[in-house]
Amino acid sequence: MIPIARGIEIVQSVAAEKERPDRMPAESVPLSAAMHRILREDVAADADSPPFDKAIRDGFAVRWQDVSQTPAVLEVIAESRAGKAAGIELRPGACCEIMTGAPLPAGADAVVMVEHTERVSPTAVRVLRSVRENEGLLRQAAEIRAGERILSVGRRIQVADIGALASVGKAEVLVSKKPHVAILATGDELVEVRESPDSGQIRNSNTYTLQTQVVAAGAEPVLLGIARDTRPDLREKIGRGLEHDILLVSGGVSMGKYDFVEEIFSEFGVRVLFDKVAMKPGKPTVFGHRGQTFVFGLPGNPVSTIVSFHMFVRPLILNLLKAENTGPRMLQAQLDAPAKYDPARTAIVPALLRFEKGSYRIRTAPWKGSSDLAGLSRANALVVIPQGEGTMQPGEWAEFLSLE
Ligand code: AMP
Ligand code: MG
Repeated sequence: MIPIARGIEIVQSVAAEKERPDRMPAESVPLSAAMHRILREDVAADADSPPFDKAIRDGFAVRWQDVSQTPAVLEVIAESRAGKAAGIELRPGACCEIMTGAPLPAGADAVVMVEHTERVSPTAVRVLRSVRENEGLLRQAAEIRAGERILSVGRRIQVADIGALASVGKAEVLVSKKPHVAILATGDELVEVRESPDSGQIRNSNTYTLQTQVVAAGAEPVLLGIARDTRPDLREKIGRGLEHDILLVSGGVSMGKYDFVEEIFSEFGVRVLFDKVAMKPGKPTVFGHRGQTFVFGLPGNPVSTIVSFHMFVRPLILNLLKAENTGPRMLQAQLDAPAKYDPARTAIVPALLRFEKGSYRIRTAPWKGSSDLAGLSRANALVVIPQGEGTMQPGEWAEFLSLE
């Protein structure tokens, strides 16, 4: 049995070993499909931003010294609107009506908000408040200079990035191709979602949680359905799964008489690097590889499957995608109720995270163990209770993973 951190390390180091330039090639996608993809090119601004000195208020472009004493009456000699510059130069005592986003006329060095003015005639305005130099405007290239990098390789593309890419003219973006992740559920007791279980049967839920987690991690799921707990069926379906970048098999990796998955892995020459992790739930997590394919045997219990995916599979997918950050996204909060340590394993338990009096507080949620999906649904986080004796006390800091 190995600690969780060691397991993650092993997964990451094997991923690095199998790194080849063509392992996860880049592909070009339209900007509208780039959200959450991993960027494979550095992106630079193609022009200054803003491209000209611009107003950031609706009002009047002025020479600030003309309004250092207020009220001051100025002559309105032109109008500058977004998309249409005034094409004039301000002389002392003159101003230019201007809208947000419009180019500043030459000679102007501040913009007075319209709210701080009074129109006295079609060609004159009274300015009621003075402004400082450069107030109400943004100078050319204040945000970014032409040629300056705005996004780097490895970035997971976010909403603001989509806007930034659009603004520099990237209609197509180079991103990592999605690895294909085969998903195989195992178990004689499983029936499909639309079926009604007979006695002793349950519905297959792992296929769907894994599919969802694979998509959320940025990969392409390939559904292999359900294999029965027989060697021939497992052989056939695991054989097919091994043709993909990653194979996830759920169930059949515990100590039961019909848990054949590891045996079939070894028949296929899968090199298993660990098969027990000091983690609760999720102890019988198997990880190995064959050729270029990474292989996981995930514990069958639904909550264990979800937790194991978060800890080991997601980091591997992000690694293959060449993402900048690959580790599980752990944050910290203070416990507000005691939590029992497990003497042998790190517990990763459904938890309730809430915001109270300016900070996040977390406590374990009531649940009935690793098959209790309803219990996990009532929670909004997974809290990490390190291996230990006794009880972790309220006020202590605990790591957690948000499920929202
Ligand atoms: P196993 O490791 O195959 O013994 O499975 C452990 C537990 O998880 C058993 O109670 C199984 O019925 C349950 N289980 C296995 N696979 C699934 C699945 N795909 N969906 C829901 N429960 C499952
Ligand atoms: Mg089973």
